[in-house]
Amino acid sequence: MRAEIIAIGTELTCGSKLDTNSQWLSRELESLGWTVTRHTTLADEMPAIVEELRAAAQRAEVVLITGGLGPTLDDLTREAMAEAFDQTLVRDPDSLRQIEAMFVARGRTMPERNQRQADRPEHAESIPNSCGTAPGVLMRVRTVKENHVCFLAAMPGVPAEMKPMFEKNVRPHLLSSGMQMSRKVIRTFGYGESDAERLLGDLTARGRNPEVGITASEAVISLWITARSKSAEQAHQMCEETEQVIREKLGEAVYGEGDAELHDVVGGLLQIRHQKMALIEGATTGGLIAMWMTESESLSSVVDQAMVMPGAWNGLKLPSSGSSAAVQASLETWARVAQDSVTGFFRAHAVDFVLLSSPFEDEKAESGVAIRRGLVAVASRTSFQTFDVSMTGNLAIFRQRAARTALNRLRLMLAQTE
Ligand code: ATP
Ligand code: MG
Repeated sequence: MRAEIIAIGTELTCGSKLDTNSQWLSRELESLGWTVTRHTTLADEMPAIVEELRAAAQRAEVVLITGGLGPTLDDLTREAMAEAFDQTLVRDPDSLRQIEAMFVARGRTMPERNQRQADRPEHAESIPNSCGTAPGVLMRVRTVKENHVCFLAAMPGVPAEMKPMFEKNVRPHLLSSGMQMSRKVIRTFGYGESDAERLLGDLTARGRNPEVGITASEAVISLWITARSKSAEQAHQMCEETEQVIREKLGEAVYGEGDAELHDVVGGLLQIRHQKMALIEGATTGGLIAMWMTESESLSSVVDQAMVMPGAWNGLKLPSSGSSAAVQASLETWARVAQDSVTGFFRAHAVDFVLLSSPFEDEKAESGVAIRRGLVAVASRTSFQTFDVSMTGNLAIFRQRAARTALNRLRLMLAQTE
């Protein structure tokens, strides 16, 4: 069962405001079992709104509209709904009374121009607005398609008015999607987005149920499993089965669920084991791991100390750029010096692990593409492992990926020694 959302307002199309209503409404609709197939954003222009309303009503069973219900002449949603479906506009006496009452309650008299907010298409229903003056509009229209009825609901653009109106007066009409939806998000790290598709094979095929979507953000790849079924229980079960298949295929790349972050997972593992770590970060992560690990008291409690090394390392100065061979040699030097100093560090401090990162250097490749080179290292009392996190691209992404690589390697080390 398909649903569409139309956001109306020139402030949205000209770039001055972001349409957040459609995102919020999509989540609500999806959780009720509707499949949202289109978002449309339109300026306050009559012909385009009329055309879009007609087209959407042909395509979808539900069309939610926000914006354009205000008292000014550029608020056109009511007129457009009437024109799109060949109805006349009538003034709703109950709505008019409610709008007047709202002004009285605020100690004001209703301006003349607010009267038009009580207008609605003749075969529509007004929805009272408990938080503002603009009533909403509900209507059902039969289109030329056989047996196709579309339910339309227009709500105010202001999110604080739209949300309670949706919950109280629109949501109850949408419970009969006939479908139940179950969703789970699995968080993974340590391989590329295109590898994910290859590894998951036809699980990510379009039209599959459960559907598996892949999103990548800050080097973390999330897999969104969405199962739809007539019964909630079955949707839940289908979701779990697909989750199991994904976990088998991706193995240790799966580190958490929902919005779990790698540093939360690592912090949790260290806490359970009553172990502590230290951080010695060069410019490759530049203190990013320390920033994450101090987000909460419980995370901080597993960090014995954290240092950021600005450039130099125990007197070692590395060139900040050079040829591939020169950069490679200096990173290897860093790894040796770092391993030596970490050995001394373990003698002096009661910590179980140290996460380190090198200074970064720009390698001038022959192709002309600059590669930012850096290493991260995970040290325990018995091992010292380095990982190359070199990549092209922007510094913030380089650092996020490097910091997550260090945390992920520690996570894997902890998992192996459970
Ligand atoms: P009201 O009568 O309460 O003003 P309205 O339907 O006329 O309702 P609009 O004039 O279209 O609402 O929008 C009012 C304000 O609401 C906008 O300036 C904007 O800040 C916010 N808004 C509108 N549409 C959206 C949207 N899709 N997402 C987020 N905010 C929105
Ligand atoms: Mg507007």
